[in-house]
Amino acid sequence: MESEKTDDQLHIFFFPLMAQGHLIPIIDMAMLFASRGLKATIITTPFHAPLVSKTLQSTQLSGNSHINVNVLTIKFPCVENGLPEGCESVNMALSHGLQQQFARATTKLGPQLSQLLQQHRPDCLVADMLFPWATDVAARHGIPRLIFHGTCYFSLCASLCVHRYEPQKIVSSDSDRFQIPNLPGDMKFTINQLPDVMEDVNTEFEKLYKTSKEVEGRSYGVLVNSFYELEPVYADHYKKVLGIKAWNIGPLFLCNKLSEQKTNRGVEQECSTDQRECLNWLSSRKPNSVVYVCFGSLPYVSDAQLMEIALGLEASGHSFIWVVNEGNHVQGVKEEWLPEGFEKRMEGKGLIIRGWVPQVLILQHEAVGGFVTHCGWNSIMEGVCAGLPMVTWPAFAEQFFNEKLVTQILGIGVGVGAEKWARLTLVGVKREAIEKAVSRIMEGEEAEEMRNRAKALGEMARMAIREGGSSYLDLNAFIEGLKLHKISCDAS
Ligand code: UDP
Repeated sequence: MESEKTDDQLHIFFFPLMAQGHLIPIIDMAMLFASRGLKATIITTPFHAPLVSKTLQSTQLSGNSHINVNVLTIKFPCVENGLPEGCESVNMALSHGLQQQFARATTKLGPQLSQLLQQHRPDCLVADMLFPWATDVAARHGIPRLIFHGTCYFSLCASLCVHRYEPQKIVSSDSDRFQIPNLPGDMKFTINQLPDVMEDVNTEFEKLYKTSKEVEGRSYGVLVNSFYELEPVYADHYKKVLGIKAWNIGPLFLCNKLSEQKTNRGVEQECSTDQRECLNWLSSRKPNSVVYVCFGSLPYVSDAQLMEIALGLEASGHSFIWVVNEGNHVQGVKEEWLPEGFEKRMEGKGLIIRGWVPQVLILQHEAVGGFVTHCGWNSIMEGVCAGLPMVTWPAFAEQFFNEKLVTQILGIGVGVGAEKWARLTLVGVKREAIEKAVSRIMEGEEAEEMRNRAKALGEMARMAIREGGSSYLDLNAFIEGLKLHKISCDAS
């Protein structure tokens, strides 16, 4: 049932892209706003609506009954756009062709969104960056549109500067290193590391991406899942030099206080009892002795690459939890990617978990000492807050930018040596490189220094969301600004 709205209560609509890595932080954000007394409503598709409600319910059941977030449904035009019936998530559209059709289908959602805005008259719309058309829809209803990119200030600065100055157009080869103009710091990139949406290709995602950069400056502003102390130079640069209005209100996942909430974050996937078992296993291990390996919900990993990971982990000699997600590997009858006798040799030493795990709880377990990550921003925020050094293995989206933040700016990680952006695929790293990178974050002085830096940042993150902290205050400032905006609109 929809919660009642009091007269002076602000009402915010949240409209996330239908992908796990986007839904998870938006649910957190909606809960955060609701916990500050605003009315929050999430718009999503019929497939996701019950799943989102279930995730929200576990929050309410675990002692937060005052937090009330509504869910509204919008039909996703699958079949009309060449998608199989029910293909309502990026996580289901795993081929290049399906992804393009998925992107095209999202551009058809405007009229339904408009209808919901007309019916419910919220005060503001927070919509995913990949819904650039939402800015005009919101404007037609006289309400501000906020963008949620789901990444950090550093990546926002880097991608906006690439969009504005196109430095990639003046290098002679894909592996030539270049500096991004107007981006603070001495950081070099290659065309190979840029998302292909930044190149001159004209697919549906590319079109959406380009328009999203164009509307960045003419939307009301950007909500960033980061905290000021993590990247002050880039937070200031984005706002003061690049001229985008933004508020840092993260880390959003820290609003989940109880273990039930931290477990049930998957939306599309659930943790089974077996998958939770790993927490008991961790309790039998020494502090900082286990490396956690997980590549998020999306990248596909070839059999050959899975084999290299297995051998690299074994050679490192460290205990591990390695998650092989459904999205990572199309499950075959026979798992030929495992080296002969691997699981037997690893008994008691390492766990391979197929499916979805309670990542936040694993990362926060004292037995975990390092994190091998594909550099999805949610994972990095969770790794930072757990005070962990990271092996960075970027694959797609803005992950090569996120890697630079972790390794070069924050000094809390080492790159595994991934060099080429590949659409949703983890590629090209040999076992020796994996072994070496894992050893560097798990052993010796360098690892200890990275861990100490990460721990200090984790502490700053917790301070940022507390009353009086930087994210807490930025959220206040945003809410106050919105109230004033509403008053001035009502008056005119
Ligand atoms: N996650 C999880 N269990 C898993 C795999 C992922 O809870 O087995 C969560 C992880 O904690 C993070 C999100 O899924 O919050 C993945 O988001 P991220 O931005 O890191 O990567 P994406 O999946 O979007 O590429």
